[in-house]
Amino acid sequence: MRTRTPFPIAIRTALLSAALLAACRTLDRGAPSTSDAADRIRRDIAYLADDRLEGRGTGTAGNDSAASWLARRHAALGLRRVVIDTETAGCSADSPSERCRTFTQTFVARGPELAHSGKPEGVRTQNVVAMIPGRDPSLAGEVVVIGAHFDHLGRSTTGALDPEARDAIRNGADDNASGTAAILELARRFAAQPARRSIVVAHFTGEELGLLGSQWFVEHSPVPLDGVAAMVNFDMVGRLRNDRLIVYGVGTARELPALLDSANVEPKLRLNPVADGFGPSDQSSFYAKGIPVLHLFTDLHPDYHRATDDVEKIDAVGEARVVALAERVVRAIADRPSRLTAVRIAATPRMSPSREGSNVYLGTIPDMAAGDVPGLKLTGVRAGSPADKGGLAAGDVIVQFGGREVKDLYTYSDALYAHKPGEEVEVVYLRGGARRTTRVTLGTRGQ
Ligand SMILES: [Zn+2]
Repeated sequence: MRTRTPFPIAIRTALLSAALLAACRTLDRGAPSTSDAADRIRRDIAYLADDRLEGRGTGTAGNDSAASWLARRHAALGLRRVVIDTETAGCSADSPSERCRTFTQTFVARGPELAHSGKPEGVRTQNVVAMIPGRDPSLAGEVVVIGAHFDHLGRSTTGALDPEARDAIRNGADDNASGTAAILELARRFAAQPARRSIVVAHFTGEELGLLGSQWFVEHSPVPLDGVAAMVNFDMVGRLRNDRLIVYGVGTARELPALLDSANVEPKLRLNPVADGFGPSDQSSFYAKGIPVLHLFTDLHPDYHRATDDVEKIDAVGEARVVALAERVVRAIADRPSRLTAVRIAATPRMSPSREGSNVYLGTIPDMAAGDVPGLKLTGVRAGSPADKGGLAAGDVIVQFGGREVKDLYTYSDALYAHKPGEEVEVVYLRGGARRTTRVTLGTRGQ
């Protein structure tokens, strides 16, 4: 619910004219494409994040309907079908017939999350994939994958941070209708003006259930995986604030830091580069195969994984700026004479197995960008949560939890999931440089 004093109509008209004038002036400065792009992005997000698609939960009618819509969009954009449909009569995996090609990569998704929610046999679902052939015959056999997951939580409370909203539809406008709209806009631009290398557009399902769609993709890739020069992932790019864009994976190829820097032209975004190629989204599936990756991210917010992540809160103009930067980055990777030099960073064990099925709850909102700060920096705490009651607040850096040292999100998760709901735990944190200690009583997720 929003409280807002309505302006009298005359003032509103005056404000509207002023806004229109300002918009025209922006157009005169030679940036008409940003506002056109923002309109398209907002329309696509509004479609995907409409209640009619019921939050696009993997294996639901809303998810299937979103996939059909994406396939129709690919057809309308004139993109090429690359997936071989082995279910069509007479088609096999090595069949060259055009009749056998489709946009949808159908599979049965299985994983611990699904098993946990009573579906050990998995659910039938689909990625939606297309290609824009490169214009340079000597490089067109190599591809840059632009990817985004289109699934969200649907009505499920698994993974939801607002269990009190029960089976309310979680529309996932930012997570990840925003990324889906971003790669549709990029597909449109690369179709109109192809790069030297080919571009593969990949909409993944099952991300929220454990990166299931992107894992299926890399294990059953419709294009040879050793031809993938890079993967650029878009997950939550619709909430640009203070011009700040987090970019994961900058350390996964030698050329990426400089390449990213030169792509960031005026009016610049404030880039927050993080070296790591592993993270909680689909780029991890590709980096595990040794492919250089980037993940663009406008950071967490209080609506993350809640029923309030709706299209009204999307900054489409900000997202259009992210897309403009991404287009320059993807073109730079796809047009350079030689491939990127991959840098492999040893995979570190991420989540302890004890996390599986744990329902312990503290209510912290971690700052995903603070990768180089030792400890877990918070962008906020949920109102009324155990963290809130314990006095933790935005800006605090947790350095010790229940006697265990906290170095990052992963050591924090391990420390948290070593406890049970109802336990009282000592938390050491830094606030404004001072070391403080508090005690929190852990809650239960879902209550
Ligand atoms: Zn998510």
